[in-house]
Amino acid sequence: MAQICIENVRKDFGSFTAVQSSSFTIEDGEFFMLLGPSGCGKTTTLRMMAGLELPTSGEIFIDGEEVGMKPASQRDIAFVFQMFALYPHMNVGKNISYPLLSQGMPKPQVKRKVDEVAQILGITDILKKPVGGLSGGDRQRVALGRAIVRDPKAFFMDEPLGALDAEFREHMSEELRALHDRMGATTVYVTHDQLEAMQMGDKIVVMNHGVVEQFGVPQDIYDWPATMFVASFIGSPSMNFLNFHGIVGSGTTSVALGESEIRVPEQHAGGRGDLALGVRPEHVHLDDASDYRAEVVATEYLGTTQIVTLNTPHGDIKARIASSDRAVVGEKTGLRFDERTITVFETEKGRALL
Ligand code: ATP
Repeated sequence: MAQICIENVRKDFGSFTAVQSSSFTIEDGEFFMLLGPSGCGKTTTLRMMAGLELPTSGEIFIDGEEVGMKPASQRDIAFVFQMFALYPHMNVGKNISYPLLSQGMPKPQVKRKVDEVAQILGITDILKKPVGGLSGGDRQRVALGRAIVRDPKAFFMDEPLGALDAEFREHMSEELRALHDRMGATTVYVTHDQLEAMQMGDKIVVMNHGVVEQFGVPQDIYDWPATMFVASFIGSPSMNFLNFHGIVGSGTTSVALGESEIRVPEQHAGGRGDLALGVRPEHVHLDDASDYRAEVVATEYLGTTQIVTLNTPHGDIKARIASSDRAVVGEKTGLRFDERTITVFETEKGRALL
């Protein structure tokens, strides 16, 4: 197991900066997600931690030891890639035992380890099968087997489920998380899928354009996004923004939104200028008693809930309400917000007022 710490790490490819000065710590035994859109620098960050890419500047520590210039082979980590890189001419057992045999481990010990790993992964009955005919899931289990058999300090996974179809992906992600909980090894997992990150991760780093936008536990990132990018990227539908020009008076903690006074949590007091109130769709309620008026412009039925698009004086927003609740396109309604959940953003900087 390992604690991994990156401090002010930056990576330039020529004149292009793929990762800007980034710092965060992955605690021993954590399942840690590197999340962000394509090209944001998550793979480059992972590769620097693994020793497959040298940082331009900054320091990387594994268990307190600075390893920035150490090659991958000396970092005692295991990589699991999206494209299950198996040896096609070997059977399942040989694929799993290969890393141990190439380290010179005696055969009886290798057999014991392979049997143990096969049991953990539920693949004992296919150990003698060639890898060629295996299903995607079994191939992924074999790839995992080959990674865990070495008892590395940490696992690094780069979109390991990206090639699987949606249903199987969900199943494998549960399996992976359960496997981690049994083994307890530090795992760093790259994904662009915010739902996967929220469901699987103990902690998440959200990156955009090479910058760490936020770092924390999933619920804090969801409830209190530090930037408008995080607020939009996490959650589906994403957080609503009610744009207005005004003041959040220090001490008063309320905002004049047209004719209405909206209370905001105390920590947001003290902002002025172009601001936006961020409200999650599940915290918007249709309530005729409210004098903040909006028009229903669309409804989308999702089974137990529906997503209602509303035209407000401060922009279009979405509400997630029960399907049994009344929402008719073209009708006007009052809106009420769960005020204690509101985040206030400075729109120019794109940052939450905190
Ligand atoms: P994806 O999910 O698409 O892999 P990512 O977030 O993992 O995206 P990276 O692969 O880390 O992103 O790439 C970040 C940026 O750095 C991209 O613009 C990419 O084109 C660039 N980049 C990555 N590796 C190199 C390289 N060896 N030489 C030049 N540019 C690179």
